[in-house]
Amino acid sequence: MYLHPRFETLQRSEIENLQMERLHDTLKACMNSEFYRKRFHDAGITVDDIRTLDDVTKIPFTTKQDLRDNYPFGICTVPMEKVVRLHSSSGTTGTPTVILHTKKDLEQWAEAVARCLYMVGLRSGDVFQNSSGYGMFTGGLGFQYGAERLGMLTVPAAAGNTKRQIKFITDFGTTALHAIPSYAGRLYEVMEEMGIDPRKDTKLTTLIIGAEPHSEEQRRRIEKMLGVKAYNSFGMSEMCGPGVAFECQEQNGMHIWEDYYIVEIVDPVTLEPVPDGEIGELVLTTLNREAMPLLRYRTRDLTRILPGECPCGRHHRRLDRMKGRSDDMMILKGVNIFPIQIETVLMQFPELGNEYLITLTNLDANDTMTVEVELKEFTDDYARLQSLTKEITRQLRDEILITPQVRLVPKGSIAQGEGKAVRVRDLRKTLI
Ligand code: AMP
Ligand code: ZN
Repeated sequence: MYLHPRFETLQRSEIENLQMERLHDTLKACMNSEFYRKRFHDAGITVDDIRTLDDVTKIPFTTKQDLRDNYPFGICTVPMEKVVRLHSSSGTTGTPTVILHTKKDLEQWAEAVARCLYMVGLRSGDVFQNSSGYGMFTGGLGFQYGAERLGMLTVPAAAGNTKRQIKFITDFGTTALHAIPSYAGRLYEVMEEMGIDPRKDTKLTTLIIGAEPHSEEQRRRIEKMLGVKAYNSFGMSEMCGPGVAFECQEQNGMHIWEDYYIVEIVDPVTLEPVPDGEIGELVLTTLNREAMPLLRYRTRDLTRILPGECPCGRHHRRLDRMKGRSDDMMILKGVNIFPIQIETVLMQFPELGNEYLITLTNLDANDTMTVEVELKEFTDDYARLQSLTKEITRQLRDEILITPQVRLVPKGSIAQGEGKAVRVRDLRKTLI
């Protein structure tokens, strides 16, 4: 049931003791870096001031901007000869960041991913196919090494060429697939076109979905379409990549590996901790990273700690499904809205497909939201389309408190590229 029983079944007090021990080593290592030495000096603290886990709040936050300002090797805490790999992400603004890894970092990362995959029931007899892009995107190599560590037969199919992807699934008897949620929907559509019924014609039983926000409704849809159990996987390049938090077979929140990270949830404005159960920004401190430890890293991801114990026996706390990134929040007529709220409504309509696009404009100085959503099947029954549009609009208004314009479009009209899905187009800035 557990790949690393010693670490996966730790009691809370044991987790905290281990965290303190590892934090101490991490802080000592951080002092090898000019960046952290200056940070501590400027904050008027020394490593000796951090004696308990509560003292962590004395440490200044690290941000994505710090990574950019110190691009490429400025936060490294080991001699560069020890660094064996880097991953770089360009992010939305185009300014790159770099994360460095030693051999040990890569081993720890692979162990974390293997632990996650084992937790959802995958074993050495499974065939694991990965539809992530390989290369700088950490979902490729991250899952590859984790899956190999478990001794599964791995199929590094990589992104794109959906027909070939499906051929691999059927020819190689793929039992487990890693795909971003928007791609899982696309796979199903192409299977349908090819006359393949995933329940009968494939051996798929397990899907790993993550890397982008998705609603519970979308997960259930994917499970139903493909006849699989789909598990939510959370990670980010700054924390190595996949393997940070993962659902267990209870499918009720993602266990975050607290032997790897100290977890805080803070108010994104005041930066003060919020009580367990309340939504805030996830802040992580790495506990076993050699090349580039990150202290109190502001992830920008909004979530909450789920209260209560998980029946699986792991005491590592669980993160709720991500609500989105603080940068994804749309403010319309003074109302804060997350794309995931809209998705949650749309996915409840069986007539609708999986693709949607939210466009914001401000012609006439009035904020307007248009929600385009694909229909699952073509119909020219206009009365039906009209009443459907009306009902979707009504339900969206109930959820987000403003009235969007809803447009039903034929299947295939909203094209997505190979990477993470684009759900929002904000054209307002260009008009002002
Ligand atoms: P990257 O560093 O390019 O892998 O992107 C990491 C970001 O993807 C995270 O900070 C989240 O915003 C998002 N992300 C990753 N996994 C999930 C998930 N399971 N649910 C929602 N968002 C996710
Ligand atoms: Zn559990």
